[in-house]
Amino acid sequence: MNVLVINTGSSSLKYQLFDMDSQTVLAGGVVERIGETQGVLTHKKFSRGKEDKTKKTQPIQNHQEAMLLMAGLITQKIDAIGHRVVQGGEDFKAATRINGEVKKAIQANNPLAPLHNPPNLIGIQLAEDLFPGKPQVAVFDTNFHQTIPEKAFLYALPYEYYTDYKIRRYGFHGTSHKYVANKTCELMGKKSTEVNLITLHLGNGCSICAIKKGKCQDTSMGMTPLAGVMMGTRTGDLDPAIFGYLMDNTGMTQKELDEVLNKKSGLKGICGLNDLRDIHEKSAKGDRLAGLAVEMFAYQIKKYIGAYAAVLGHVDGLVFTAGVGENDGVVRAKALADMSVFGIEIDPVKNKARSQEPHTIHGTNSQIQVWVVPTNEELQIATETCQVLENSN
Ligand code: AMP
Repeated sequence: MNVLVINTGSSSLKYQLFDMDSQTVLAGGVVERIGETQGVLTHKKFSRGKEDKTKKTQPIQNHQEAMLLMAGLITQKIDAIGHRVVQGGEDFKAATRINGEVKKAIQANNPLAPLHNPPNLIGIQLAEDLFPGKPQVAVFDTNFHQTIPEKAFLYALPYEYYTDYKIRRYGFHGTSHKYVANKTCELMGKKSTEVNLITLHLGNGCSICAIKKGKCQDTSMGMTPLAGVMMGTRTGDLDPAIFGYLMDNTGMTQKELDEVLNKKSGLKGICGLNDLRDIHEKSAKGDRLAGLAVEMFAYQIKKYIGAYAAVLGHVDGLVFTAGVGENDGVVRAKALADMSVFGIEIDPVKNKARSQEPHTIHGTNSQIQVWVVPTNEELQIATETCQVLENSN
């Protein structure tokens, strides 16, 4: 079965076509700057180990034009479509075949993800128009976290804010956490129900997850993807009293404050840069704030690992993934330094070695395995799409 995975953003469209029998990518690409003066499409077709790349720069006025461009370049057959949807709220505990009711329920969750769910829905509608009769499945970023118990997902606000306004921890990056957790279990030769893991998705956005016997128990992101550890440009956890204090003292509007919290904070807020490759370079030249940004980031990751070790009671493995998690040995080493009390020791040589393949970085005396596992959210979406369709037949 060939599954097309679609991830529609407010001004972008990412897609990948998988042959699920051979688990290979047949084609994939991205359309960026939709609605701007010049849009950019990059498409790749793969066959027999060869890559055929097409790049087009032209005005792409809307998602419909982007989708038509994509469809024109995909020459292979498409059997089913899997959509990434960011926020499923409490309505969706698992990936779901799309119908009218499902679209309405996704729309009802728009207020919880106003930047993400509306373009996701546009993608679903356009794909239905373009590929009539093809089954479509929604895979939600929030699905994996729906097993988090009430004591961990509730905020200590008046309870009716949860019932009336749906304010609670939802968590994000669920597809990635699920993929790397399953992959790690497979590599450990264990069933997911046999192990406890802490998975660390550290990219431009960062989230950490405590997983007990295959079920998510807690995660660092909250009602929105702003919470948790500090990120490239996002604050992570803050004292909530800071918001009012800042607005009173700077005259910032709520919209301006939102912009600061999401786009001007995190690593960037501390040292002016958000890409860790640039930050390490600046730090090596003696820039104090670049060094401080790395120290803060690693410290916050360490605190979450400690907290989640306590939540899980027993930890079998830590799993690092995404841009920073997969590539940045410095951050990994700092976050895991002096954690022998938890049974965590890394091997500095293994930690420095670069590999695109999943590998371990723990030392021989470590009681906890430490893995670096490249994430593949698209493959996870394609896999879940197949599972939903198999179960609905
Ligand atoms: P992602 O959101 O998963 O694409 O991750 C993007 C981030 O990963 C970048 O902003 C960098 O901070 C980080 N990153 C990517 N490659 C490297 C690398 N080779 N070394 C350190 N950090 C990296």
